[in-house]
Amino acid sequence: MKGLLVLSAVLLSVFAKEDFSGHQVLRITAANEAQVEKVRELEDLEHLQLDFWRGPSQFSNPIDVRVPFPSVQAVKVFLESHGINYSIMIEDVQMLLDEEQEQMLAFQSRARSTETFNYAVYHTLEEIYEFMDLLVAENPNLVSKIQIGNSFEGRPINVLKFSTGGTNRPAIWIDTGIHSREWVTQASGVWFAKKITEDYGQDEKLTAILNSMDIFLEIVTNPDGFAFTHSTNRMWRKTRSITPGSSCIGVDPNRNWDAGFGEAGASNNPCSETYHGKFANSEVEVKSIVDFVKSHGNIKAFISIHSYSQLLLYPYGYTTARAAHQAELDALAKAAVGNLASLYGTKYKYGSIITTIYQASGGTIDWTYNSGIKYSYTFELRDTGLYGFLLPAKQIIPTAQETWLALMTIMDYTRNHLY
Ligand SMILES: [Zn+2]
Repeated sequence: MKGLLVLSAVLLSVFAKEDFSGHQVLRITAANEAQVEKVRELEDLEHLQLDFWRGPSQFSNPIDVRVPFPSVQAVKVFLESHGINYSIMIEDVQMLLDEEQEQMLAFQSRARSTETFNYAVYHTLEEIYEFMDLLVAENPNLVSKIQIGNSFEGRPINVLKFSTGGTNRPAIWIDTGIHSREWVTQASGVWFAKKITEDYGQDEKLTAILNSMDIFLEIVTNPDGFAFTHSTNRMWRKTRSITPGSSCIGVDPNRNWDAGFGEAGASNNPCSETYHGKFANSEVEVKSIVDFVKSHGNIKAFISIHSYSQLLLYPYGYTTARAAHQAELDALAKAAVGNLASLYGTKYKYGSIITTIYQASGGTIDWTYNSGIKYSYTFELRDTGLYGFLLPAKQIIPTAQETWLALMTIMDYTRNHLY
């Protein structure tokens, strides 16, 4: 009996969910670069356990940061004493998480088909993997599932392939959820998958795309991190790999690619949210895509989807050097965000990563662009900071719908500029 009690106590400590009661997200508006530098000092104070959702960087104003309850007073005093303006973006993080959980539980039911699947709520990894299998079973002539690897913790890394035939056709790659807490992205990925099967044979442009090209869609690009956001810590961003010599877990999979690896815009501290890892491609979740892209050899557009901030970005992130195709990438981005806004009026900014958001080295699309994939883009989906990563589920479908218009713009353009 005593053994059982000890065991259950251990299980509880392993499986208990992290509690965010009293955690606030502050929106800091730095007036100048000196104030940005001051905020950076906070970043270095590890005992405060701050989680920067956006910035700090001179290009990324405002700066959003989640502050654990025990640090709230100290951070506010620090900001006020330096005359730095801030507002409270989220009063209590746990309250939003409780609402999110209630909704998931209220609508939880096993879908028997992709017709009855509920696209308007967030789903677990198991539910998304079941959805993928249903979609394949229902559309055997259009959709297949390929496994490109296993995650650090051994989960299958699955990619949906949409193809109407041919061998090694020119292809479009789309991934969602490389940062696990950006839940609206995986949810949008599910919606995109269904949309492709609905529109093929109905929508002229999508049909033309799939008659000459394949589409690869990786919905859960960081499966370990995603499982962890459900089981333990909703705010988890990184992979779940172990770094020898450190008690901190995980690598930022969007700083782990072989493009400006380890330069400014990533951290060499394993405890940082932007830790780049021991070496480029150290993360199997990244390496699996790299190997796939290289062995495929015919990918023409690569679109990696994040949240939040409402941005459409193209290379580069690690250098201020202009991409060779900057003018073309910029014009296409402009067209894409224009079409996106036509549905619900959602406004996006667009530009190169380094000038629009911040310097980031080792990012996905810098590597794909340097590898010859001209149409390399990153999205940051809704919102601009009312809910941040905790976007209410009722915004999933509108977000996916408007994003689809931008994706179609890029995919259609790519098809028309294959050679
Ligand atoms: Zn992200």
